[in-house]
Amino acid sequence: MATSFDAIVIGTGQAGPSLAARLAQAGMTVAVIERKLFGGTCVNTGCIPTKTMVASAYAAHLARRAADFGVSVGGGVTVDMKRVKARKDEISGQSRTGVETWLKGLPNCTVYQGGARFESAHEVSVGPDRLTAERIFINVGGRAVIPAMPGIGEVPYLTNSSMMDVDFLPPHLVVVGGSYIGLEFAQMFRRFGSEVTVVTSGSRLISREDEDISAAVYSILEREGIRIRLNARCITLARRGDSIGAGLECTGGPPEVVGSHLLLAVGRRPNTDDLGLENAGVAQDKQGYIAVDDQLRTNVAGIWALGDCNGKGGFTHTSYNDFEIVAANLLDSDPRRVSDRIPAHALYIDPPLGRAGLTEAEVRKSGRTALIATRPMTCVGRAVEKGETQGFMKVLVDGETKLILGAAILGMSGDEVIHSILDVMYAKAPYTVMQRAMHIHPTVSELVPTLLGDLKPLVP
Ligand SMILES: Cc1cc2nc3c(=O)[nH]c(=O)nc-3n(C[C@H](O)[C@H](O)[C@H](O)COP(=O)(O)OP(=O)(O)OC[C@H]3O[C@@H](n4cnc5c(N)ncnc54)[C@H](O)[C@@H]3O)c2cc1C
Repeated sequence: MATSFDAIVIGTGQAGPSLAARLAQAGMTVAVIERKLFGGTCVNTGCIPTKTMVASAYAAHLARRAADFGVSVGGGVTVDMKRVKARKDEISGQSRTGVETWLKGLPNCTVYQGGARFESAHEVSVGPDRLTAERIFINVGGRAVIPAMPGIGEVPYLTNSSMMDVDFLPPHLVVVGGSYIGLEFAQMFRRFGSEVTVVTSGSRLISREDEDISAAVYSILEREGIRIRLNARCITLARRGDSIGAGLECTGGPPEVVGSHLLLAVGRRPNTDDLGLENAGVAQDKQGYIAVDDQLRTNVAGIWALGDCNGKGGFTHTSYNDFEIVAANLLDSDPRRVSDRIPAHALYIDPPLGRAGLTEAEVRKSGRTALIATRPMTCVGRAVEKGETQGFMKVLVDGETKLILGAAILGMSGDEVIHSILDVMYAKAPYTVMQRAMHIHPTVSELVPTLLGDLKPLVP
């Protein structure tokens, strides 16, 4: 006998819990299903634990630089990895418990713990339980891709999930992957004291970004002693005694790097393979992402997909924004759409990269008349005062409408300062509004109006 609900939410990532709460508040009976850890990736193996560890790594880095500021710490700086992990576990654990307690205490909401599987378009099984609902919301997230590299079955490896259990210092961490997740781990472990080598098949790091950003990030990491091997076209893995060898076929440098531990950070895949989507007739793309329209409806009436599993975001803020879009359409008669949002994200190395809108490459490709301005962080007083002058700012503006098209701030507080530009973009105000704004001194943000005053035509 199936238990009937008004709505079923599968997964407790960044969209599911908030949506369940809104639906329950609106008087619907809601079943929430979670197969593992409440709060999903961000809370348990993603943003929160990694940024907590990035903070520990920053403390170690600053302690090593203490003398630059006239401060003596006495003796060498060492990192107690057990305490780093304990701090991370506490902060992440509080968040996980918060989500679980919240959901279990919600009136009208029943929580099931187990893996959900579609039996039909309106029926889901969780172990022995059968649940039915007219509305089903899929928020199952994703996991690390394990690439089919030669030798992968013969060597131990870590992913972003198993990295969460590391409470020791790997003598030499080899990171396969030169994108956001790999670089954050690379810098933090270097700062904890590991030797670190980054290996990527790409010809540059974070290849979704502009070339000047990739080059600046390369320099920042290299300056800290991280070895970076680009163009590793054919990566092979093998045991080398107690160590792990990664064969590279790179242009330049030795053909193999041997490390004590291997982290795979080569991309994510959606958790849709064991969801029984075929039983419900829900369409997916070739990579397994669930196909959705601009309001996150799947091809099956009454089924929505939110967060990483729909392939439209890949970030916590995009997943939460998905919740807002679905809730607005269903409960507030507000036809919000995915296409309303401006792409924005950050890379949490130190200094961080904040990004909004189009890249320079995308603007060039669009063929429109545009203006561009850049400014090194060495010209930002606040950065000089804090001794953190690496990186630069860049902004692109439409030459005709004067609207800001995109921006990148690689530098101190770049993850925060980018929002002042992002908000002007949402306001659809011309850049001149921001150029004339009086910002507070001394801040990184005060240089954004100055930057806008330097705009020059983007030479094709
Ligand atoms: C190392 C790392 C660092 C990151 N850092 C950032 C960052 O700084 N900023 C940022 O914006 N994003 C970051 N991200 C990305 C961010 O974590 C994800 O985009 C975000 O968590 C997506 O959430 P979601 O709602 O799609 O689902 P998830 O958070 O992945 O949650 C999905 C949930 O569904 C459950 N589930 C799956 N299948 C089933 C099933 N069949 N039945 C029941 N339950 C199921 C899972 O157990 C999980 O709890 C990071 C990711 C990683 C890996």
